[in-house]
Amino acid sequence: LQRLRARLARSNSSLGQGLLALLSRGHLDEEAWEEVEDTLIASDLGVEATTELVDSLRQQVKVDGTTDEATVRGWLREDLLKLVDPTMDRSIADSRVDGRPAVVMVVGVNGTGKTTTVGKLARVLVAEDKDVVLGAADTFRAAAADQLETWGARVGVPTIRSDRDGADPAAVAFDAVKAGTELEADVVLVDTAGRLHNKVGLMDELGKVKRVIEKQSPIDEVLLVLDATTGQNGLRQAEVFAEVVDVTGIVLTKLDGTAKGGIVVSVQRKLGVPVKLVGLGEGPDDLAPFDPEAFVDAIVG
Ligand code: GDP
Repeated sequence: LQRLRARLARSNSSLGQGLLALLSRGHLDEEAWEEVEDTLIASDLGVEATTELVDSLRQQVKVDGTTDEATVRGWLREDLLKLVDPTMDRSIADSRVDGRPAVVMVVGVNGTGKTTTVGKLARVLVAEDKDVVLGAADTFRAAAADQLETWGARVGVPTIRSDRDGADPAAVAFDAVKAGTELEADVVLVDTAGRLHNKVGLMDELGKVKRVIEKQSPIDEVLLVLDATTGQNGLRQAEVFAEVVDVTGIVLTKLDGTAKGGIVVSVQRKLGVPVKLVGLGEGPDDLAPFDPEAFVDAIVG
């Protein structure tokens, strides 16, 4: 955890340092505030949240009359934390419900880190003594099932897959939930394909996977995997997915490679669901629960 925090700090500290350098200037004129706004917008915080944050900071500077760095840092921390919203429920459905496994569907555009996330999450759950079954329903990307199976073997859990490329993803998902039920697993994690050629195509593919799983079991969690480095484009993709499935949580990957941590706030606002997990690297241990306090600390130091 310490290591992950350090990595998060590295990626976000340039944002924080930039902000604090601006905010602790002796004289905060219009130009300085505009620079603060630009810095926040550049971090993908979004226009609305940026305006709220800057208005609040301006007000506090005006009332208090100080630009003392420690004081401003305190305000920034408080305002950012409010935007990130520590009150949201960030727990993951990982335990049996009504005598059946929890079913977690993992969705997102190919390349965002979906399969890696499923593997890492399985590892986290196994470390918590959970019985996990993996479903390799990304049957469009040739190597995805192999990749997931490798993760499964590494953490010691079964991977349900098809032997053929291009098999029906819904059938694989169905079989995975069936296997999870028979094995009395705690949780079934279903990896899916994310071919976002258009909304209708996505509806056809992902919508079918969802419907077919639901013939057998309710779906307890739909995690949307989003690449933090893709900015506005990623947000638009997120919206399309949210129209097709009921997203219950967001996994923000590749936060290690960007200072654009503001996307946490903008995607939560856009979809109305919390960021629950963050990916901070390619290694097996580089998935962490999203911790609002640690996140804000990484920005403001
Ligand atoms: P999928 O197509 O969405 O299933 O994507 P993959 O799981 O195959 O991941 C695509 C690439 O992103 C791989 O090279 C992963 O190692 C990499 N990746 C996934 N998560 C992270 C992360 O949090 N940080 C970094 N730096 N790379 C990641």
